[in-house]
Amino acid sequence: MGLKSFVEVPRESHFPLENLPFGIFRPKPSPGAAAEAARPGVAIGDFVLDLSAVAAAGLFDGPVLRGSECFFQTSLNIFLEMGRPAWKEARSTLQKILSADEPILRDNANLREKSLLPMIEVEMLLPIVIGDYTDFFSSMHHAKNCGTIFRGPENAIPQNWFHLPIAYHGRSSSVVISGTDIIRPRGQGHPTGNSPPYFGPSRKLDFELEMAAIVGPGNELGKPIDVNEAADHIFGLVLMNDWSARDMQAWEYVPLGPFLGKSFGTTISPWIVTLDALEPFACAAPKQEPEPLPYLTEKKRINYDIPLEVWIKPKGYDLPSIVTRSNFNHLYWTLTQQVAHHTINGCNLRSGDLLGTGTISGPEPESLGCLLELTWNAQKPLALSGLTRKYLEDGDEVIFTACCKGKDYNVGFGTCTGKVLPASS
Ligand code: MN
Repeated sequence: MGLKSFVEVPRESHFPLENLPFGIFRPKPSPGAAAEAARPGVAIGDFVLDLSAVAAAGLFDGPVLRGSECFFQTSLNIFLEMGRPAWKEARSTLQKILSADEPILRDNANLREKSLLPMIEVEMLLPIVIGDYTDFFSSMHHAKNCGTIFRGPENAIPQNWFHLPIAYHGRSSSVVISGTDIIRPRGQGHPTGNSPPYFGPSRKLDFELEMAAIVGPGNELGKPIDVNEAADHIFGLVLMNDWSARDMQAWEYVPLGPFLGKSFGTTISPWIVTLDALEPFACAAPKQEPEPLPYLTEKKRINYDIPLEVWIKPKGYDLPSIVTRSNFNHLYWTLTQQVAHHTINGCNLRSGDLLGTGTISGPEPESLGCLLELTWNAQKPLALSGLTRKYLEDGDEVIFTACCKGKDYNVGFGTCTGKVLPASS
């Protein structure tokens, strides 16, 4: 039996008492009324528990959180900065006050009314202020497939890939919350043959199935984070769609890497699932050959068994079709190696930074994490509810979901969605 809450949690819910993911929400404004302030909450079943109401009632009474202002903020950055002692205390307090046999909230009708809001009556916002966003390239299957498509099978995986977790600095200003429409970008596309590059709406708009780590406490400039302590700097994970314009990317990426083909939009899911909640789903990460340098060598190499799915709902269709089933455990470079590598030169991470894993592709044809791979760069169109897709078309809605299956419960991420709108003229 899973843990039991007095809040009814449907068996298939992503958000039982074992999960308790953190987000930022505000009640949907009623017509004519001013918007209420954004504030932190956790998801429980089909409800959101308002942490500012819980804190105002004095229920966070442990030594770390008592009197803290961290749940009276419009982002989670301050709570994240407080680190693992605060996260553990919040989790155990919340599991206690939401449990079926604890009366303090269960039997207080006034506080219950104030603090438990139906999820359908709230609007989710970006949970963190993102100072910096970095995107890694940590799935070997993805690296190999992309390399084969762009450079041929002889040079598929570059020599450096097996020695360091490759990454580029992304753009944080265009990170948006799930449900935000994505406008098809315009730009220069790769020339074919002797023709000049074309300019216009991207002809190869793609999704990238990723997850992203949210940084908790950062590090001081000049002081790298040890790979074996890096987990204390990671609060949790979200789903992330790193939308990509492949025609723009292919033309611009030499020699400095991705730029406008990526920076027009990145979508994240609203609920941050903590590493504590994911602990029962920890599994061994793949053995690395060659062995990495000492600063990347871990005493224990941990991945998580997180099944991932991508669905596409074309315009005018009621139901989406599944296009990919992958798993977070395909990552070759772990989250902790990414953090250690990011900071080994002294670079400072800050609370709320977003670290994308890179596209998570598995070894099978049905586990590829983007259309570039699924259609082999438009050479093999993908069948979709009686239609075909080479790349995304206007009106397509892309839906990511992820759910870890426990014995009697799930630890899920909800969804990460976005709809493609036509390019602006
Ligand atoms: Mn990416």
